[in-house]
Amino acid sequence: MNEFFREAARFVSEGERFLVVSHVDPDGDAIGSTLTVGHLLRLLGKRAVMAIASPVPAKYRELPGAEEIVRPQDLFDEPPFERVIAVDVADEDRMGDCRSLVAPDARLLNVDHHRTNTRFGTHHLINPEAAATAEVLYDWIESMGIKWTKPLASCVYTGLLTDTGGFRYSNTTPAVMKRAARLLECGVDAPRIAEQVLETLTIGQLNLLRRALSTLRLSEDGRIAWMWLTLQDFLEAEAGEGDLDGIVNYARNVIGVEVGILFRQLKSGAVKVSLRSRRWVDVSEVAGFFGGGGHARAAGCTVAGARDEVERRVLERVAEALGR
Ligand code: 5GP
Ligand code: MN
Repeated sequence: MNEFFREAARFVSEGERFLVVSHVDPDGDAIGSTLTVGHLLRLLGKRAVMAIASPVPAKYRELPGAEEIVRPQDLFDEPPFERVIAVDVADEDRMGDCRSLVAPDARLLNVDHHRTNTRFGTHHLINPEAAATAEVLYDWIESMGIKWTKPLASCVYTGLLTDTGGFRYSNTTPAVMKRAARLLECGVDAPRIAEQVLETLTIGQLNLLRRALSTLRLSEDGRIAWMWLTLQDFLEAEAGEGDLDGIVNYARNVIGVEVGILFRQLKSGAVKVSLRSRRWVDVSEVAGFFGGGGHARAAGCTVAGARDEVERRVLERVAEALGR
């Protein structure tokens, strides 16, 4: 057994009560990995409290255990947690208000696959080669010789499925497919999960998409496409952050486009920027320049400033990355 896995297993064996957290605006890997660790801890006879600073998007609510994920405000009366497992969290700020649940001297196991991870934990299980945090968890669970239960397998599968864009992106390696196949053998209902998480839209999401598409613009050379969503759009679409899933892909998917961008006005006045690239631009570098991060093909950052100015600065940086 790899020494990092052994260290992580020791981290778990030495505690009793754990907080499991993931990032704001959670995606399938964030939710799937949070639930995976929750199930894992309970299989090991530990107490697990799962918290995420944004609501769980409707399409993930059928996953086993999803109803137990709470918001940080539900835990403010509890003593802070001395043992924390953060999953899919590239830097501390991504935990949002869940940070306040962590005791100052807490021991924190950071399980992740972002190359830009800041290693903010006291213990780390980080594999930038992994397609999803769920893949890191798969390997850890295997290393401990734990028997796959259907809930555990379903949650890991969800992370693999969503972070590979339904087994389509370049991170869909033979290793991912082998692990997914093994999870199917453990009883995962793959069509059911795919139907729930990939083939289900909320009306809010469609309303937002309609609004975003009406703002779509292309750079002169057709290699950058971008869209905007304002606070007003969210109000009028009766949509929340959980309804954003996949909208930025429409910009990136335009024929000839290499980089797609979604700009979104935040309540703080700053602008959240989501970046996606098709084949070669490393958007995590662009996001990193503005203090964010992510992966080569999918990254994000939050930029302070007026709308036009943020748009101009980000487009300039993307154009530079495109080598113009
Ligand atoms: P999204 O655009 O869907 O919010 O995020 C795409 C990817 O970029 C995800 O892997 C996400 O974790 C990462 N990401 C998004 N926003 C930020 C940010 O502000 N900071 C960092 N470090 N990563 C981000
Ligand atoms: Mn992930």
